[in-house]
Amino acid sequence: MLNFQLTEEQQSVQKMVRKFVDQEIIPYIAEWDRNHEFQPKILKRLADLQLTGVCIPEEYGGVGMDYNTLAIVCEELERGDTAYRTAISVHTGLNSMTLLQWGNEEQKQKYLAPQAKGEKIGAFGLTEPNAGSDVAAMRTTAVRDGDDYIINGSKTWISLCDYADNFIVFAKTDVNAGAKGVTAFIVERTFPGFESKAIKGKLGIRAGNTGELFFSDMRVPAANILGEVGEGFKIAMSALDNGRFTVAAGACGLIAASLEESVKYCHERKTFGKEIGQHQLVQQMIAKMSANLEISRLLVYKSGWLKNEGKRNTQETSLAKWISCNAAFEAANDAVQIHGAYGYSDEYPVERFLRNSKAPVIYEGTREIHTVMQGEYALGYRQDKELRKMLPAWPFEEVTVR
Ligand SMILES: Cc1cc2nc3c(=O)[nH]c(=O)nc-3n(C[C@H](O)[C@H](O)[C@H](O)COP(=O)(O)OP(=O)(O)OC[C@H]3O[C@@H](n4cnc5c(N)ncnc54)[C@H](O)[C@@H]3O)c2cc1C
Repeated sequence: MLNFQLTEEQQSVQKMVRKFVDQEIIPYIAEWDRNHEFQPKILKRLADLQLTGVCIPEEYGGVGMDYNTLAIVCEELERGDTAYRTAISVHTGLNSMTLLQWGNEEQKQKYLAPQAKGEKIGAFGLTEPNAGSDVAAMRTTAVRDGDDYIINGSKTWISLCDYADNFIVFAKTDVNAGAKGVTAFIVERTFPGFESKAIKGKLGIRAGNTGELFFSDMRVPAANILGEVGEGFKIAMSALDNGRFTVAAGACGLIAASLEESVKYCHERKTFGKEIGQHQLVQQMIAKMSANLEISRLLVYKSGWLKNEGKRNTQETSLAKWISCNAAFEAANDAVQIHGAYGYSDEYPVERFLRNSKAPVIYEGTREIHTVMQGEYALGYRQDKELRKMLPAWPFEEVTVR
């Protein structure tokens, strides 16, 4: 049976996040964005509101709500700005949910529980200067030395590089084995040999923190291997199923914000003796935003439903991410168009929406990678099989997460 109604709990989370964004992000974001300022105090507030572990089981420090509640949180956050939705995407989507899926009991108690409570912040280090879409081309190496591994190399374009406490880092344990030579490690910022540095001059997400990680002879205990040696590529791809879900949900928030601002302006601005909303070509842009918001949400909720059912959702999540991020970019572009020259200045937020909307078309699988994936699924060249460890179905039961 299909059910399109949000539960009372989901509605109350939606209301709470919306109020928080309206009061604590929207009034200040233009200035933070202009000054390229990331505000760690917002992470602290997200933790106070229990939003850092919204879909993590209570036994691991979370709230235990369903995966679509995470989508609601991400949509509402990105209605305010892409920076803080990106923070939740890497902290919860890419890191904590990956620990939930692949971590052993000790790793979950040590790393997942404090992250779910927001006492520690998590991030995800996959991309390298020479390895973005082509993940297996990574050059970072991990060499066994007694009970440890010694990691050397670097990562780039890593969100929360300067603020996260823990990172899931991918490195080659066998440089001759391609994708099968990649292993996932849990790395703490405090490990000697770890350094981070922010990237300056970004087009968008200027209120966010993105940058490089450097590892020089960084010693990581073998106990911090996530999954098995050589399983890192699969873990990275399954992490992206969750990260992409949050990115797609966030894109809905950016479409909603573009629509909200555009409708407001359509009623304020008059040309040729009538509100610009009365011109049919303007209505066309509004209609497209409105339709794409509905379409994108439906795709996101379907992906969340599959997660709740404990089923593979790579195909559906890729589709949701591809469609909604393209739609958000178009919505922001049209929102600037509707505002005319005023949209071209930071007097209105729509220019920030347009700058922010570009990164999600690039990160967590570029537009082209998702197009190719969807083509391959349709042609029967690609199929999803059960993984050795699946994300636990919701409602959570102790037996399914252990
Ligand atoms: C703001 C921001 C935050 C980010 N945060 C993180 C993070 O937290 N962690 C992390 O690990 N990474 C992060 N990234 C990196 C991001 O995931 C990569 O940039 C992305 O995967 C693309 O890799 P690339 O930039 O190397 O582009 P490339 O892979 O070099 O691609 C260049 C171009 O070629 C196209 N292309 C490549 N291969 C193919 C193909 N097979 N078929 C068709 N077209 C192709 C691409 O679509 C693109 O247009 C972030 C990036 C940004 C911009």
